Amino acid sequence: MAFSIEATDPCKKADLTRLSKILRTREELDAFDVTSEGWQQALQRRYRTHKDMKGILNHVEDVDMAIYHHFDMRVTPYLAQLMDRDDPNCPIRKQYMPFQREVNVRPYEVADSLAEDHDMQDGSSVVHRYPNRALFLVTTSCGTYCRFCTRKRLVSHGESAVNKQQLERGISYLKAHSEIEDCLLSGGDPLLLNDRQLEGILSQIRAGAPHIKFLRIGSRLPAQLPTRITPELCAIIERYEVQMVNVHVNHPKEITPLFAERIKMLRKTGTMIGNQSVLLKGVNDDVATLRDLCMGLVTCGIRPYYCYSCDVAEGNHDYQLTLDRILKLYRALRGFISGPAVPTFVVDGTGGLGKMPIIPEYVRELANGEIWATNFKGKVQRMINLEARTLEQ
Ligand code: SF4
Repeated sequence: MAFSIEATDPCKKADLTRLSKILRTREELDAFDVTSEGWQQALQRRYRTHKDMKGILNHVEDVDMAIYHHFDMRVTPYLAQLMDRDDPNCPIRKQYMPFQREVNVRPYEVADSLAEDHDMQDGSSVVHRYPNRALFLVTTSCGTYCRFCTRKRLVSHGESAVNKQQLERGISYLKAHSEIEDCLLSGGDPLLLNDRQLEGILSQIRAGAPHIKFLRIGSRLPAQLPTRITPELCAIIERYEVQMVNVHVNHPKEITPLFAERIKMLRKTGTMIGNQSVLLKGVNDDVATLRDLCMGLVTCGIRPYYCYSCDVAEGNHDYQLTLDRILKLYRALRGFISGPAVPTFVVDGTGGLGKMPIIPEYVRELANGEIWATNFKGKVQRMINLEARTLEQ
C-alpha cells in the first residue's frame, strides 16, 4: 500500500466547530470524560486564550492579547482538568498558562539559540548536526504549547504545518544520506499528525532509507492528551518498527491513571519508551518532586532519559536554574532512587554546540596522580585500583 505525504493541519478544520465545544465552567470541565470521544474531537475543545480559562480557573493573570502574536496558547481539556483551580503556582498552570513577563525578552534570548536553522538541510526541515543522527521536524503544531518551548520561533503561529515540499525534501535527504543511522521525528509534535499523515512519513522512511536503523518519535501529546495513544496508532508504531518513543513529562502530577494505562498500551508494541524532562524553576526544581517524577516514570515502564536545563529561547528566563542548583538536584537523585530512574542531566549548548552532560565530579584525579572518589553520602575515599601507578605495576 502506498502512502503519500500530507501536510494538512487537522486543527484548521476543527476551527469551525471549536467555539461551541469549549467547556466553559469548571463543573462542565470536571464532568467531561476525555475517553468518551476521539482525540481529534478533544483537540477541538482546546482553550486558546487566558480569557477562555477564566470560567474554570481563579486568579488567571491578565496578559496583553498581543502575547499571542509572539506565541500561541492551546490547552487541552485534559490538561485543564489537571490544573489547580485556585493556585496560579500549580505546576501544570506554570507550564502552560501565559504570563506577561515572557515578553520581556533579554538580549541573550535569541530566537534560534541552538542554531538549528543553520543545520537544516537542502530546504527541508531535517536538522543534521551529529554524524549519524538527524532530527526531522514534521510539523510545527502541538497539542498544547509549553511556555518554555525551545522552538517558539517555529511552533504555533496559527497552527501552520511544515509544508509538503519541506517534508518531501526531508525524505529525499534522509534517503540520500546513508550515514544517517538514527532519525528522530519531532516538531512541533509528530503525534499531532493524523494516523494517515504519520504513516505516510514512516512508510517512506522505511521503504527508502534502510540505513536508518533506529527510528524515534518525540512527542508530548501522551502527557497532554493520552487518548492520542490508540490501538490504530500502536499498530503503526509496530508496523514501521519505531524503536523508541520519547515522551515529555515534567511533573508527577502528569502521571495520571489514564496516562499510565495508555503507556502500557504503547509498551505492548515493543517500542522503548523514554522521557525527556526539562528542569523548570517553580515546576520541578525541588528534590521531592524530581524523585517522585523519576520513580513515577519507571513505575509506568518509562526510562527517564534526559533532564534538560531549560534552553535559551525568547522569554524563558523565569524558568531557568543555575548550574549550582542543577548539580544539587542531580546529587539528590543519584544513590537515593533506583539507578535506572536517574536521568542524564544535560545542557544543549547555545550556537549549536550540542548536548553536554551536567554531572557532579564523583571521581577525580589529583595532580600527584592519586584518585579520590566521593560517594552519594559525601564519604571520600582513595581509589588506588584506578590509579595508573597501581595498574602499571
Ligand atoms: S510540545 Fe515540545 S515543541 Fe510543542 S510547545 Fe511543548 S516543548 Fe515546544
